[in-house]
Amino acid sequence: MPIFQFEPPSNLPDFVLYIWHCMGKESPSIPDLKFFLSFRAKLMPPSKAQEFIENALRDGLLVNKNNILLLPDTLQTRQAEQEQAEKERIQQTFVQQVRKEKALIAKTFNDYFREILPEEYKSKTFVIKLKDIRLEVPDPALEKVKGTITTEGKTIEVNIDGKSNKLTHSCEFFTSQHQIARKFCPHIGAIFRSLQKDLPDLALRLLRSMVEDKAKWHFS
Ligand SMILES: [Zn+2]
Repeated sequence: MPIFQFEPPSNLPDFVLYIWHCMGKESPSIPDLKFFLSFRAKLMPPSKAQEFIENALRDGLLVNKNNILLLPDTLQTRQAEQEQAEKERIQQTFVQQVRKEKALIAKTFNDYFREILPEEYKSKTFVIKLKDIRLEVPDPALEKVKGTITTEGKTIEVNIDGKSNKLTHSCEFFTSQHQIARKFCPHIGAIFRSLQKDLPDLALRLLRSMVEDKAKWHFS
C-alpha cells in the first residue's frame, strides 16, 4: 500500500479549485486548461476535458471572459475560506505541539518521582541509605540498570531495561496492584534517587518514559 495516496476532490467546485491550485496559472485560455487536464496532469482524455470545461462554464464554476477563464467570485471566496481554515488548522496543531513540548521540558525528575512513588512510600525511600545501594550501568545509551541494595544482610535487586520497557523486582511492597499501576516501591524509589545522583540524564529519561508512556512499560 502506498504511503501517500491522494485522490482529487470528487465534487465539481472543489475539483475546479484543485485544478486551479495545480495549474498555478491565474487566467488560462480554454486550450491551456484542456492541455493541462489531459496532457500535463493526465487527469482525463481531451474529450472529457472539453466536457468538464463546458459543464463548469454552464454551472458558473468558471467564467469565460474574452476567451480567458477566470474563477467566479463564489469560488474565489470558497478558496479563501478553505485556505484560511487550513492555515488555522496548521497553526492550531503547531500551538498544541509547542505546548506539549514545553510541558515535557518543564517537568523535572522530582515531578515525575512524585507521580510514580505512592504517597505512603515517600518516607520509606529515604530510610534506605545511598551507601547501601550499588548501581551497575554498563552503558547509559543501552538504558540497562541493575540496582542492588544490601541491607541487614539481605540483598534486594532491581533490574531496568529502558529499551524493552521492562522493570523487574520482588519485594513485599511491590504488590501486583503497584505493578499494574506502574508505581514504585521504596527500593525502586531509592535506586532512582541513586541513579539521579550518578546519571541524572538517564534517570530523567527512564522516569519520564515510565510516566509519559506508562502503557509501554511492564513492571513485574
Ligand atoms: Zn521493593
